[in-house]
Amino acid sequence: MHFIFNTVKVLKFGGTSVGSAERMKNLVQLIGSEEPKIVVLSAMSGTTNALVDIAQALYNKENDKAKQLTDALEKKYGSVVAELYSRKDSLNKGRELIKNHFGFIRSFTLDLFTANEEKEILAQGELLSTALEHFYLEELGIGSVLLPALNFMRIDANEEPDLEFIEENLKAELAKHPGKKLFITQGYICRNAFGEIDNLKRGGSDYTATLIGAALLSEEIQIWTDIDGMHNNDPRIVDKTFPVTELTFDEAAELAYFGAKILHPTCVLPAQKRKIPVRLLNTMQPEAKGTLISEHAAGDRITAVAAKDGITAINIRSGRMLLAYGFLRNVFEVFERYKTPIDMITTSEVAVSLTVDNDRNLDAILKELAGFGSVEIDRSQTIICIVGNFTAEKQGVAVKIFDALKNIPIRMISYGGSENNVSVLVDTKDKKDALVALNKGLFNL
Ligand code: ASP
Ligand code: MG
Repeated sequence: MHFIFNTVKVLKFGGTSVGSAERMKNLVQLIGSEEPKIVVLSAMSGTTNALVDIAQALYNKENDKAKQLTDALEKKYGSVVAELYSRKDSLNKGRELIKNHFGFIRSFTLDLFTANEEKEILAQGELLSTALEHFYLEELGIGSVLLPALNFMRIDANEEPDLEFIEENLKAELAKHPGKKLFITQGYICRNAFGEIDNLKRGGSDYTATLIGAALLSEEIQIWTDIDGMHNNDPRIVDKTFPVTELTFDEAAELAYFGAKILHPTCVLPAQKRKIPVRLLNTMQPEAKGTLISEHAAGDRITAVAAKDGITAINIRSGRMLLAYGFLRNVFEVFERYKTPIDMITTSEVAVSLTVDNDRNLDAILKELAGFGSVEIDRSQTIICIVGNFTAEKQGVAVKIFDALKNIPIRMISYGGSENNVSVLVDTKDKKDALVALNKGLFNL
């Protein structure tokens, strides 16, 4: 092996970074250097959504619609190829590639369409984008190797990534190419415990990158997107925000889970487990510092706020809770049976409030909870999560937060559960006001 795995960098580029022929060409400046690296690509932006629509049409047996959607997507790829390559042989290769993948998509129109086939269709986006970029590098005379993610990315029977399998098989795959330094592979796609084609769920290319970085104990994992890092507040809602330069893994995980769209929520875990720093960078502004996520960060500060909508609050009130033990366990068991995670929880002596972000089994859950006492629910709630490192300064933090929110009706407060997070629940209609107030009160913006 010519390079030691831990000197390799893993670079992941999202859909917009490969969203057009022009963007694909521009990538070369970021990946073409001599350093050993593994480049993980998403599908071109819009492609996975289009593939989801095609699969949906096939489920509904709307073959004409599936055909129209497939034709339209193929046409788009046709123009990408025409614009991307200037040499005849690359053009031919690109055309051949498209013909094969779209021929494959069309082969599903006739019979029964199942979840497995849907996953095969969803995998086409990343297979296309990586091959197109690889051919482009070839045309430029930059030697790259196309690594088939389906040979090493795997989830187990619980749909969790199998890091040991990934490590072993990725290393074996790399060892087939001694002397090579630039590898391109597909984000998002994998095989499942049965060896079938599967995926890491929407937005899962980040997860691919952190799994690869963790598997190789790589030097750094870079997630390239189109904003300049994780911001201190939601830039879609609040006018003035700034990129946070350093975050700990815990802070980043809280922010990703509670709404910062820039990062896939579970993707922090593999990097954290093996202590591999993750850097969030901006393709449009490569020299900007971005956000570095690592084990260490300066203490005692408030780093960012994030908001998560679509929350339902459930309140259970019962005289039986008074001085009783086992009440909460009984309540939690109901949620466990329906595999519904609880996000926030607050209790008083006679009542407990908790929140869920998943309404799928809510009716059944509410029915069972009714056995414990009177149950009320509030929909359209938002969790606002204030993230930082609050070890020594706790008192001051609480005062600042509640002073900032003094005019906002607060439905629940969760404080002290971790040193990294204070969460409040507000009605979604008050979210904007709350985020603006926090931006002023906590960041003077
Ligand atoms: N292409 C997939 C999606 O759109 C995976 C990703 O982009 O991360 O969800
Ligand atoms: Mg993404």
